[in-house]
Amino acid sequence: MARQFHELDALQANDDYWVFFRSHPNHPAQLRSTCRALACPKCGTFDAQKTLENGIESDVGTPATSRDAFLSCDYCLVVSARSRSVIEAVAPREARFFPIPNTEFFVLYPITVIDPPPDTKTYMPLEPARNGEPFQFRSKPCRRCGRRKCVTFQSQWFTVPDVGNLVGVRIETGLYSMITLAASHVLCAAVIESGLTGWRVYKDAFRN
Ligand SMILES: [Zn+2]
Repeated sequence: MARQFHELDALQANDDYWVFFRSHPNHPAQLRSTCRALACPKCGTFDAQKTLENGIESDVGTPATSRDAFLSCDYCLVVSARSRSVIEAVAPREARFFPIPNTEFFVLYPITVIDPPPDTKTYMPLEPARNGEPFQFRSKPCRRCGRRKCVTFQSQWFTVPDVGNLVGVRIETGLYSMITLAASHVLCAAVIESGLTGWRVYKDAFRN
């Protein structure tokens, strides 16, 4: 029988905390220049993983929360050093932890990331997903960079490949990709039992 996976997630921080954007008191948050420099000149999207690999800017700062995990306003999964230790003990070398300069926090990005298969069906923007199809392309690929601005995901029809304890699924939400995290039952249990705060576990999110 296939190993059981759950969705591992965190609540959004209730403060104005961004990684790819810079918040501004009077205007909407602005994309940081390092992200803009990596964005496709045609469609404006950028590769979140490459941006993190280039290093997080030094003024992102310490979040106003003591939680061990939370989502930034731009959907980066930010984790404490304690969270990192617990995850690395169960799933060594299965996630990268990009340090947020001058803080004790990291942005977690899984090593194994699943992209929608090339034969994914293209849907109309609001068309309901067909039964059994986990991915939906909802926009055409950019002629310059090949990325699609909108890809949706129905986790209940997705079987998580049994390649480790932590698997990411990448979807597109406009400017950059977002990751849905699938974690093994063992890793979820370790996160819960360690008393870490901020994490949420959704059982039955996936087929297995
Ligand atoms: Zn593009």
